Formats: sequence, structure tokens, C-alpha cells
Amino acid sequence: MLALLALLAVTGCAARPTYTARHFTADQRGPSASPQPSAGRTGPPSTSPSASVPPAYKSLAWYLAQVPDFPEAPPPQRVPLPASGAAPFWHRVPTEQKVAFITIDDGGLARPPAAIDFIREARIPVTMFLNSPAAAAHTDYFKQIEAAGGVVENHTITHTSLSGRSYAFQKHEICGAAEKLAELFGKRPTLFRPPFGNRDASTLRAAHDCGMKAVFHWSETVDKGKVRYQTPTKLVQPGDVLLMHFRPALMDDLLGALKAIYRSGLTPALLEDYVN
Ligand SMILES: [Zn+2]
Repeated sequence: MLALLALLAVTGCAARPTYTARHFTADQRGPSASPQPSAGRTGPPSTSPSASVPPAYKSLAWYLAQVPDFPEAPPPQRVPLPASGAAPFWHRVPTEQKVAFITIDDGGLARPPAAIDFIREARIPVTMFLNSPAAAAHTDYFKQIEAAGGVVENHTITHTSLSGRSYAFQKHEICGAAEKLAELFGKRPTLFRPPFGNRDASTLRAAHDCGMKAVFHWSETVDKGKVRYQTPTKLVQPGDVLLMHFRPALMDDLLGALKAIYRSGLTPALLEDYVN
């Protein structure tokens, strides 16, 4: 009987994931990991599913436990910017350093609160290309990601496809968003991503005239945790820019991007450390 009690005590302890205890306080654990009455100690062992499923599954602790152990990022070497009347348009950063860049777009659709903690705790370098009305409506959320190390950049006011529109229209969209974002965050954006990646010569001229150093497309996209590659090698290349959005699955997208970058032998780095 004593042996049975001892066994129950041991398995009861083992059922708790140790990483939650190591990294987090109780209030940061998943909802099912909150303190429960110590029924297991005096009564029979519970056979309900909640007792066997790891309580922290898909909690912040679960995501943090999945983050790969990256090699240290190299000291960033800034890339030269072409001196011309138009901003360069890049699918990737022209660098051979073993780094890749995570970018998150839009901001109006969904803003998972746990992403703030995930970005801060895992030290994920992120660049946020925001539409200025979404940034204005949810400034506190984006400021918290900024405080966690993220950087706010420009993604127009109205998220309209710019290609084919007049220079004046495009300049209003780019300069207007830059000014609003500067007012909200106290720092004017220096990078621009056109909605849908659509651009023409006027876009690159207007971006330059609004003070944008470079206009970014992307190399890979991430959605619902799945990375879509542009090349059959299915590897992230040095300098690649990964695109995801502020959507409900942002946590999975961040984790998917981190795993893909790790598998490719790269380390995530901050876009603004390379282009500024
Ligand atoms: Zn967008």
C-alpha cells in the first residue's frame, strides 16, 4: 500500500511539465495548469483526459519550449543603399551573412496577446509593416511589441494596391502613413512594404521621397504555421525575408518561421540592423 502511494506521488509529479516550473510563474501558465485541489493525494488517481494531456500544450510555455537553440547572430553588416531618386525594391536583403528576417504585416485583423510575451521571452526580432489606421486603433498592442524589441514600419494607410495609381496618390498613402506612425510611436518609419507586394516606378519614387530607404517584398510566406518557399530547395537562404500577418495563428507562424530558419542553418536578425 505504501509502495502504491509512493508510486502515485511520483507519477503525479512527473505529469507536470518541468519547463513551466523552470521558466514561468503560475499566472503565466495555460488555464488548465492553474492550481487545483490536491484530490490526487488523498483520493484515487484521476483518469480524466485533463490529467494525462500536458496542461501547458499550446500555452506560451509550450511555444517557448519549441523554440530552437539558435547559434548567435553575427554582428550585422549594413548593406549599401543605392544613391538614386528611387528606393530599391528587394525580395531579400543583399547579404551573405547567415541571417533571415521575420516581418509581420497589416495589424487590423487579429492581434493575439500571447504574441507579445512570445516575442519578448524568445527574443524574436520582428519588423511590423502596419497600416496606420490599425496602428492608431491598437497602438498599445504594437507599442508592447515594440518594447519587446519589434520595429514599426510602413504599409500605407488604406492597404490599396498602388501599382498603376498616380504618383500623388501613392505619395499620399506612403507619406501619410509614415507621418501617422511617427506621431503614434515617436519614430518615423524608414522601410516600406506595398500592399500585396504590388508596385511600379512611381511607388519606388514616392517611397524615396517620403524618406523610405528600401521597399520590401518577401522571399517566403508563413500561414497557419506552414512556410511556403519560393524555391524547390525548401530552405531559407541568407538574407531572406519571411512574411506573415497579424492573424489568429500568429504564434504558430512565428514558431514555423523560427524552425524553418533554424533548419536552414540561419539565425533570425532584425531587418533595421541591416537596412538603415
Ligand atoms: Zn498587407
